[in-house]
Amino acid sequence: MESVGMMDKVIRLSKSVIGGAEKKAVMGVLDREYLGMGKEVQEFENVLHDFLGRPVVCVNTGTAALHLALQALGIGLGDEVLVQSLTYVASFQAISATGAIPVACEIDPDTVTLDVNDARKRLTERTKAVMPVHYAGGMGGLDEIYEFAKDNGLRVIEDACHAFGGYYNGKKVGSFGDIACFSFDGIKNITCGEGGAIVTEDEDVLRKVRDARLLGVEKDTEKRYKGERSWEFDVNNQGYRYHMSNIMAAIGIEQMKRLPEFSSQRRKLAKRYFKNLVSCNSIELLNQDMETIVPHIFVIKLKNVDRDKIREQLLASGIQTGVHYMPNHLLSFYHSSSLPVTETLFPRLLTLPLHPDLEEDDIDYVCEELIRCMDV
Ligand SMILES: *Cc1c(COP(=O)(O)O)cnc(C)c1O
Repeated sequence: MESVGMMDKVIRLSKSVIGGAEKKAVMGVLDREYLGMGKEVQEFENVLHDFLGRPVVCVNTGTAALHLALQALGIGLGDEVLVQSLTYVASFQAISATGAIPVACEIDPDTVTLDVNDARKRLTERTKAVMPVHYAGGMGGLDEIYEFAKDNGLRVIEDACHAFGGYYNGKKVGSFGDIACFSFDGIKNITCGEGGAIVTEDEDVLRKVRDARLLGVEKDTEKRYKGERSWEFDVNNQGYRYHMSNIMAAIGIEQMKRLPEFSSQRRKLAKRYFKNLVSCNSIELLNQDMETIVPHIFVIKLKNVDRDKIREQLLASGIQTGVHYMPNHLLSFYHSSSLPVTETLFPRLLTLPLHPDLEEDDIDYVCEELIRCMDV
């Protein structure tokens, strides 16, 4: 029986965009029967190096990238890392995995990026680093964070997991600064299925993360790129099974070819949201330059409306929405004293669908339904 009135199409919040080229590339790896870390990973690192103009070390997740970057800086037990509370729990888990304490900071509510003045108040003699999160792809006042870090002898690990392909002050994210970490998980700006990368010019960090992703086995990376194995070796540091596989890298190589198309589509859709919603009284938009960033998620701030009710109504119209993110300082494991700006903003945040397979018509439909829900 046909169900009349049922939505025939669900507008997904986010998704991977995979074509024939990615499938063929994966089949190629399967046919060659060398699935681990080898030729394709080396090639993907070279593609990323050419794109960013800096050496790149690929790992199996963005979380692993952050973890290894912190460890390579010698950050560990008793150290403190300043980070915004309003981020994916991955940022916090990567810090606590080293034994260090993630010190939850406020955000600037206009951009939902780290509030450097709040971070300054939380400095102690144990503070070793600051982790700005490029929320939704925007970088906020990254210059100010670098200045703050320089003045206080802190290292900077950019959680750039949302920001791949974006520009800050005319420069690509990851092409400047101290250390940037990217994610290539299923729904990020490009995907490898799962994956991550560390980008830096710091030779010591590069050497350490290359070893640490392969259980700390010294120079195992060079061996694997020559198709060899390490039978006799030394280990000097704690390592992990964090390396990327050839299957993942093969997908990433194809996705890189589509980055220009993905980026312009994300920008076009985000600008459409902006145009449709900018004059709506019950909504505030983030302060982001859609011409230069690659918007990863589209987040709005609701005014005096019940978010959960709106989410339910949109879902009934076939529209998935999200909430980015549960503040980490409210989680049992990371509980710390109250952050009023974050706690006031969090219940107002609503993420609308954004991925390169959507069309402007889909965005118009989402906006019409959203405005209709808020009027009733
Ligand atoms: C996705 C993400 C990560 C972690 O990346 P994974 O590849 O999923 O481990 C870290 N921080 C932020 C802000 C993210 O969105």
